[in-house]
Amino acid sequence: YSTATALEEEPIKPAVQVEHTQLLIGGKFVDALSGKTFPTLDPRTGEVIAHVAEGHSEDVDRAVAAARKAFDQGPWPKMTAYERQRILLRAADLLEKHNDELAALETWDNGKPYEQSAQIEIPMLVRLFRYYAGWADKIHGMTVPADGQYHVQTLHEPIGVAGQIIPWNFPLLMFAWKVGPALACGNTIVLKTAEQTPLSALYAAKLFHEAGLPEGVLNMVSGFGPTAGAALASHMDVDKLAFTGSTDTGKVVLELAARSNLKPVTLELGGKSPFIVCEDADVDQAVELAHFALFFNQGQCCCAGSRTYVHERVYDEFVEKAKARALKRIVGDPFKSGIEQGPQIDSEQFEKILKYIRSGVQSGATLETGGDRLGSKGFYVQPTVFSNVEDGMLIAKEEIFGPVQSILKFKDLDEVIERANNTRYGLAAGVFTKNIDTANTLTRALRVGTVWVNCFDTFDAAIPFGGYKMSGQGREKGEYSLKNYLQVKAVVTPLKNPAW
Ligand code: NAD
Repeated sequence: YSTATALEEEPIKPAVQVEHTQLLIGGKFVDALSGKTFPTLDPRTGEVIAHVAEGHSEDVDRAVAAARKAFDQGPWPKMTAYERQRILLRAADLLEKHNDELAALETWDNGKPYEQSAQIEIPMLVRLFRYYAGWADKIHGMTVPADGQYHVQTLHEPIGVAGQIIPWNFPLLMFAWKVGPALACGNTIVLKTAEQTPLSALYAAKLFHEAGLPEGVLNMVSGFGPTAGAALASHMDVDKLAFTGSTDTGKVVLELAARSNLKPVTLELGGKSPFIVCEDADVDQAVELAHFALFFNQGQCCCAGSRTYVHERVYDEFVEKAKARALKRIVGDPFKSGIEQGPQIDSEQFEKILKYIRSGVQSGATLETGGDRLGSKGFYVQPTVFSNVEDGMLIAKEEIFGPVQSILKFKDLDEVIERANNTRYGLAAGVFTKNIDTANTLTRALRVGTVWVNCFDTFDAAIPFGGYKMSGQGREKGEYSLKNYLQVKAVVTPLKNPAW
């Protein structure tokens, strides 16, 4: 690899201070009631960045009470939509102004390349909030032509207190996908960040308060899943739950929601997305896109193109070139310029990935390159490519969430459709072809929430995202996500006074 670029050197010092480590409740930074903290670690070294307040159920109770009060008694749901929009736009301006601090915190806590944070993700975060600010004053109901002499209208009202639980792979973008539509619709929020990455979203939440967000509207609880997360999912006074994470945890939170107060739940869960390279493909372009589809963000994407299906006519050439591309991947300290791949998030994911690699070798797949850790500290993994992968192997069935590409051979379209759909997941798919008929056939046949044709990971704020099957319920982003955060009230009035 063009790699290990000095992984043994001292890590580069991030140009940012950690200012906020407490919980944010009712507009104030406060310690956890227990006084407990937990360390958040630098994935480059495994060393402690900061100790962060550890929220438990009693802190979730306080945060929900603050959100309830802000919803029932505060100005937020009642202010004009235009005023809400202006606060969201001011917040977006502040996020943009603090691009570099946010990017540094994101990279420090998560390990993703700084240039990716600073040039792609923070600008997307800003764009998402401007997009949802745009919706704030365009949410309106209908008049309904009911039978009889009635005037019938629907009011689209905020649902109340939204509980939101996010993962560590895109801490700020997940914050935006959740918070943007909830605020645009006039809800109040209690958000739990992932225990691996609490820092950047706390900083962003502070900027919302600087922008004039009333106290109690956006409350932030750092902490662990089985304690803080479960308390939020099962809270009787939370009106709606939005969750992103693994499919197993998705089942747990859905059950907690059902057993408590039947709050509606949206879920963004795991995936095992096929990336299909057809026989007419330009192999060099297909290799580059398939590489990006899998390796982007250290392979830690729910929608990673983690089953690379390649037509037999171009298979051998593809495998050779995919291997060469992985060998060229630039791995190193994510704060260094030009780095394509940083460390994995933590030791647990790191070990899990190495275990999957061993399982690939044991099950008879061909290890073309990679297969081991990189360097002696932190959680760096070699870009790894397997060929001769078969559908029944664990590496082709389960989510690895790491830089491990699995290449499978196919003969014809019907066969690849059947195999691509033969999974419990249905998050996304990539299709690479110049033939419009092939593209049309595949886009309609694949049972997934997003099909990217000759592109991948295109995440405009307006494009809905979500899963079929066990990849989730509901859609986030775009206009579709507004309905997750709205109640519909039908108001029925006789046109003239009834006779009684
Ligand atoms: P995870 O499900 O363990 O954690 C996600 C979040 O849920 C964290 O905030 C965690 O603290 C919380 N949590 C854990 N247990 C909980 C419980 N019992 N009750 C309430 N909350 C709980 O996921 P992970 O392993 O940390 O993250 C990786 C997974 O997330 C991958 O499987 C990936 O596919 C998935 N993911 C999906 C998407 C998507 O948009 N579909 C996006 C990112 C990640």
